[in-house]
Amino acid sequence: MNIQEYNATVIGKVMITPDIMILTINADEARSEFEAGQNMLLGLYGYEKRSSNSEPELLPAEANKLIKRPYSIASAKSETRQLEFYISQVKSGQLTSRLFNLTIGDRLYLGTKISGLFRLDETPEGSDIVMVATGTGIAPYISFLRSHIIERPESKMVVIQGAAHLWDLGYYSELTFLEKTYANFFYVPTLTDADDRWDGYQLCIEDLLRDEVLQNEFNITPDPERTHFFVSGKPEMVAQVSEWLHDYGYTRHHPDDPGELYVEEF
Ligand SMILES: Cc1cc2nc3c(=O)[nH]c(=O)nc-3n(C[C@H](O)[C@H](O)[C@H](O)COP(=O)(O)OP(=O)(O)OC[C@H]3O[C@@H](n4cnc5c(N)ncnc54)[C@H](O)[C@@H]3O)c2cc1C
Repeated sequence: MNIQEYNATVIGKVMITPDIMILTINADEARSEFEAGQNMLLGLYGYEKRSSNSEPELLPAEANKLIKRPYSIASAKSETRQLEFYISQVKSGQLTSRLFNLTIGDRLYLGTKISGLFRLDETPEGSDIVMVATGTGIAPYISFLRSHIIERPESKMVVIQGAAHLWDLGYYSELTFLEKTYANFFYVPTLTDADDRWDGYQLCIEDLLRDEVLQNEFNITPDPERTHFFVSGKPEMVAQVSEWLHDYGYTRHHPDDPGELYVEEF
């Protein structure tokens, strides 16, 4: 059997809700610099204990098999050793139920390869950037902003983040702070199940876009010549926003067929 050794240590764990966390890990050996928006594999063996609030696995993991899954890196691209991930627990899942049981000092596997074409550096300089996310789909945008916001003062950059409740909006403080700090950055959180204290948008992302909030509030036109869109999160949201953008002439970005719509589903 090919045993892969654990090669990283948990150095930070912040619970945003019982099923969403920010996990920071320190790699034993530095990785190469990555491009903002890329992902790496995290892994744990099936014999590791699962979290106390997990549910029976849909497909029970084999004890001696390393369970590996890709996760978007939320850190700035210059970080090569201490890497941050924003993870949602699938209660019946194999890996996340084990990741949620980790504590500071625990060991795990971190892939050596860095992958992904969901990258801000593929967009032309000066183009406006709209980043749309639900759930942990916000992670790559945190990396985009931490890595590039200073370098792109001429681009308008907008994050539209959809969630049910205020407490589900991971990175809310950081994004609010960036909006106050950078004149070209706009943060648009929208909640579908907000309480009375929330005075922001209360629409699902698809309706917010159809209501022309981008055009009316930020003077951003969905024009493939001027504005590039990133869409990341739940497959249904990604499909609906992609469809809306197709009507404006957007095509999906591929390495050998560049488009203005970048999509990541998870
Ligand atoms: C490029 C890429 C980047 C990703 N980045 C992130 C990230 O930053 N943060 C993050 O939390 N996840 C991310 N994911 C998803 C991650 O790779 C795993 O698929 C996810 O964490 C579930 O793993 P698991 O082993 O716990 O569940 P599995 O054991 O793989 O799945 C168990 C069951 O749950 C279903 N399932 C899987 N994922 C979900 C889900 N999200 N919601 C509901 N049901 C689900 C499966 O279809 C399956 O039936 C990313 C995926 C890709 C492809």
